[in-house]
Amino acid sequence: MARERNRRPEFMRRPVETQNIGFCPFCPGNEKLSKEIRRYDSQNGWQVRVVANSYPAMQVEGSVNRSPHGLFDSVSGIGAHEVVIETPEHNEDLPDWNREHSILVWKAYRERMMDLERDFRLRCIMMFKNSGTMAGAGLSHPHGQILASPVTPPAVEQMLDSAYAYFGEKERCLLCDMMAQELSEGYRIIEENESFVAWLPYASRLPFECWVAPRRHAHSFARARDEELIVFADFMKSVSRRLKQALGDFDYNLVLHTSPNRSSDIRMHEQWRTLELHYHWHIEILPRMWPQAGCEMGNGIFINPIPPEEAAAFLREV
Ligand SMILES: [Zn+2]
Ligand SMILES: [Zn+2]
Repeated sequence: MARERNRRPEFMRRPVETQNIGFCPFCPGNEKLSKEIRRYDSQNGWQVRVVANSYPAMQVEGSVNRSPHGLFDSVSGIGAHEVVIETPEHNEDLPDWNREHSILVWKAYRERMMDLERDFRLRCIMMFKNSGTMAGAGLSHPHGQILASPVTPPAVEQMLDSAYAYFGEKERCLLCDMMAQELSEGYRIIEENESFVAWLPYASRLPFECWVAPRRHAHSFARARDEELIVFADFMKSVSRRLKQALGDFDYNLVLHTSPNRSSDIRMHEQWRTLELHYHWHIEILPRMWPQAGCEMGNGIFINPIPPEEAAAFLREV
């Protein structure tokens, strides 16, 4: 934490800009430009479309081959890379959707993730969303991505290792304990209901970085029940509206951290045997106000000018 005098929460708000859309391949009328995997319709046309990424990081066809290159190792890029076009409306993102639409979007993510989990080659199925140029989005139309990979990404592995080590020592879930502490202290909580909690984590990397998790211990988003998903959709809408009210038109990354795919080769992962007990799914919303620079990229040290306690107090009031 390194406070700068003029970086107070109330000065972080960015004005809402009306953008000239120009040509958008995700807007209705341009469906032929993408290879459709799944579509969710209403009587007014499609509401959500899942399409293949035109510049995929992974390919579905083939087998997973692992090979050495001297000191190094490589794995063939087998996997899946899908884009979820979350709405036909170019300028309506998460805070703007109505209730029914929010539920549909999260159900679409759950369905795609459940489907990809059937492929035992895929070890980790990740969902993320880049919104705005500062967050690395190539297109401004609201969309998210699903990336399924044959390896466990390093950041996911680190998180799984910590959760497993904590469970080994205490026989309790790390995130359940973290949430209980946040709720008892209260400083960093921004919203809670009977099923979900949203808080700004201790010593957060970024100003207004926000985590959302189910109160009930649950390891997998893909296995969330319908009634939970409905409450989750409402809750996410409310949290994102709060952030929008505070920050204006903010750029952000949203990352869903969920259990790795247990139907992949579990013999490789002794630690995955207790996943249901030690891992807890959650969402991270990462507002992006400025680009990551050398200190973050080179050292993994994030300099945050607004302590989460102060940002949370501000968010509770908006
Ligand atoms: Zn569009
Ligand atoms: Zn838990």
